[in-house]
Amino acid sequence: MISSGVREARDRYVSAAVTAPPLVVTRAAGACIEADDGRTYIDFAGGIGCQNLGHGAPAVVEAIHAQVDRFLHQCFMVGMYEPYVDVCRRLAELYPGTGEYKSVLLNSGAEGVENAVKIARAATGRPAVIAFERAFHGRTLLTMSLTSKVTPYKRGFGPFAPEVYRAPAPYEFRGIGSDEALDGLRRLFKAEVDPATVACVVLEPVQGEGGFVPMPLDFPRRLQELCAAHGILYVDDEVQAGVGRTGPVWAIEHYGVTPDLLVSGKSLGGGLPLAAVTGRAELMDAVVPGGLGGTFGGNPVACAAAAVVLDTVASPVFRGQAEALGHTVRQRLEGLADELECIGDVRGLGPMLALEIVADGAPAAELAAATVAAARERGLLLLSCGLDGNVIRLLPPLSIADDDLVDGLKALEGALRAVLGD
Ligand code: PLP
Repeated sequence: MISSGVREARDRYVSAAVTAPPLVVTRAAGACIEADDGRTYIDFAGGIGCQNLGHGAPAVVEAIHAQVDRFLHQCFMVGMYEPYVDVCRRLAELYPGTGEYKSVLLNSGAEGVENAVKIARAATGRPAVIAFERAFHGRTLLTMSLTSKVTPYKRGFGPFAPEVYRAPAPYEFRGIGSDEALDGLRRLFKAEVDPATVACVVLEPVQGEGGFVPMPLDFPRRLQELCAAHGILYVDDEVQAGVGRTGPVWAIEHYGVTPDLLVSGKSLGGGLPLAAVTGRAELMDAVVPGGLGGTFGGNPVACAAAAVVLDTVASPVFRGQAEALGHTVRQRLEGLADELECIGDVRGLGPMLALEIVADGAPAAELAAATVAAARERGLLLLSCGLDGNVIRLLPPLSIADDDLVDGLKALEGALRAVLGD
């Protein structure tokens, strides 16, 4: 058992700006986390969507061990190695389109989005970027400028990167549909930015941190048509929604749209830091040699894990399992919503699902936070999200065992009923 001094040492040595719940993890396997309080928790957080295959998936761990014994770090710019090229080949083969695709590998989702914007700017020769309301793209200077939530992501951190413009995004639960959102973008082109200067739009197919808001089925296609009319590239941020989280490998597959560039991360590395930008070969090659890269991007151990992750999420069996999970969980959440008035909306795409918690129709962040805390007492780890912090998102492993799922959903229901005094 880890010493109980971890909490005290955390207060003494770790920046208070890095928030953490009162949980000290000692082991994790599948959908379960053991903690130093002697309890085992069902994990519906997955280290924020990084464990789509579950903790310590045996084939991933085996590939990591094998690569550790070969070599750890090389830097692709110093000596090339097979795992990097293997991951890029898989990303090209799995791209939601037909054509020639190439990738660059990086360390984090934010670095992925930054690089996608660099590539779009280099390829188009244009400076401006359009992001959407409730977007989350990361915490670096450019990506926090693209992000649409002030506290905690932007407060005190300005000035922000220039040439970032914001358009409304659909949010059907609050009455914003595709028409309104696209009208907003057209207005932006008249009032704020000449579309001829826009390199790209950056959009999450299901907004993650912004509240698990899936784009309506017609929106990505109509957005792409509008972009194409102005020579603007479509960057699909799949850092949270990709790698099987919504059923298919990429969430954009639900929409029948081929983006110009696709950013992946989180679960891609199976628990190790890895992100990628993948896109049409001529765009990816538009940057001068040496213009993309980094010391650790595409680390061989992370790549060895990613090859197994991609093969797994691309398999029909895994996809079937993920889709079945989505049906089961949605049915259960909708049943709960019929009974509990505080659940204003059950939404998501496939097994990427969430509950929007309300009181008299208004966002109820305190109720959501109390539910997360009550769930932890019942042995379930949950995360909230949303601009108002009132959405409870579910990110269990897509391969979760039936017993763990039943226990987790029971704990969620118990937590909701407890905070409502039911
Ligand atoms: N894009 C999306 C959609 C995300 O959800 C996240 C992280 O939550 C990021 C980008 C940034 O990823 P990272 O935290 O790995 O930098």
